[in-house]
Amino acid sequence: MVSDSGALLQALSSFNEAVGMPPSERLTNPASGVKIKLPMAMIPRRKTVTAVVGGVRVGSDAPVVVQSMTNTDTADIPSTVQQCAALARAGSELVRVTVNNEEAAAAVPRIVEELDKQGVRVPIIGDFHYNGHVLLTKYPECARDLAKYRINPGNSSIGRTGDSNFRTMIEVAVKYQKPVRIGVNWGSLDQALLTRMMDENSALAEPLDARDVTMEAMVVSALTSADLAQKFGLRPDQIILSAKVSGVQDLIDVYRALAARCNYPLHLGLTEAGMGAKGVVASSAAMGVVLQEGIGDTIRVSLTPAPGGDRTEEVRVAQQILQSMGIRSFTPQVTACPGCGRTTSTFFQEMAQQIQTYLREQMPTWKGRYVGVEEMKLAVMGCVVNGPGESKHANIGISLPGTFEEPKAPVYVDGRLFTTLKGDRIVAEFIGILDEYVDSHYAAREAQKEEVVARS
Ligand code: SF4
Repeated sequence: MVSDSGALLQALSSFNEAVGMPPSERLTNPASGVKIKLPMAMIPRRKTVTAVVGGVRVGSDAPVVVQSMTNTDTADIPSTVQQCAALARAGSELVRVTVNNEEAAAAVPRIVEELDKQGVRVPIIGDFHYNGHVLLTKYPECARDLAKYRINPGNSSIGRTGDSNFRTMIEVAVKYQKPVRIGVNWGSLDQALLTRMMDENSALAEPLDARDVTMEAMVVSALTSADLAQKFGLRPDQIILSAKVSGVQDLIDVYRALAARCNYPLHLGLTEAGMGAKGVVASSAAMGVVLQEGIGDTIRVSLTPAPGGDRTEEVRVAQQILQSMGIRSFTPQVTACPGCGRTTSTFFQEMAQQIQTYLREQMPTWKGRYVGVEEMKLAVMGCVVNGPGESKHANIGISLPGTFEEPKAPVYVDGRLFTTLKGDRIVAEFIGILDEYVDSHYAAREAQKEEVVARS
């Protein structure tokens, strides 16, 4: 039993050493000098093979990968390059573009080249439906430059024309050594397969519900297509599966079933999640359940943006799902109370927003400069009821004065009262404390590199 904070820090330090966490990746507690790093959530992942997509590893031995998809006309090269770059800069580790016609296929090599020129090194995935076999063979540079092909077995003629379209795409993947995602979607499920399974089901003494047969048909479609892909020459570690539906309970059921019957990495996401809060909540609810069970190796949040809306929102939501669950860290988190009758002004809401914006703006620089800064926690609270308590759980926390409270804002750093701010420069002074904290508490990346060299 750990009885005091010094012993706790020591225990954490021992834990870090036991799990082999490099010293350069631990944080230093200034009071004790002990380097600590609280472990992320220990959710056992379902064991999979590892697929490599343009250098990004997807599977249980790698962190859950965030990906997204453009909504530009792929043939519009400047717009597609701009959106791919924006998605990558927002944190998308893979970006998919539709390759729906010859113009799009011809544009792919130029998109990849332009991104490379701009220093944006994000693997580009091609999304194929109906005519992928034609485009991938007629445009070999497109086939060569894509990092992965997404193939929908529901519209690649599996089981209808001797599998030649599907087979052609797989053979191109084998030729260029590209991984493939076999992406089943219930909106375009293989109708021949579904009809056959429905007929077989109706002949049973106790037929299953039509919904259950549809879920099973999705799993069967994904698995039989993966078997075929292997038969045509793809290795198991070049296959990723998905089975997308638009209902939360359906997603949970179909991914549990798929996960239990294979060890391919799984691409997780609701299809057509929807707009705004509905899309965010449905995606979070559905993916949260299966991620908690260790299922899912790459995720995409398929939000419908408002007209003229920001496509990168889906990347931030995907990151937030993973970070809220303690699976990965991407950016410092701000804990802010909801406010109540004790806060009659919007000052603390504005301050929480200003700090969140400041963090987002600083992160591209901080991430390149400081090790572990994305795990920092801040608290911005509306009054002293829960303010100091919540602040003590954060790296830095501030409690603004509520109604009828003294006009002062205590600031806690690493669980201790650090200072009390007053006046109209509270935000600026708090940001000054934040900058100082980041600079003094997180090891510089250059120093880390030197340390690795020194140890090797
Ligand atoms: S911390 Fe204070 S202002 Fe915020 S919700 Fe709680 S009581 Fe209300």
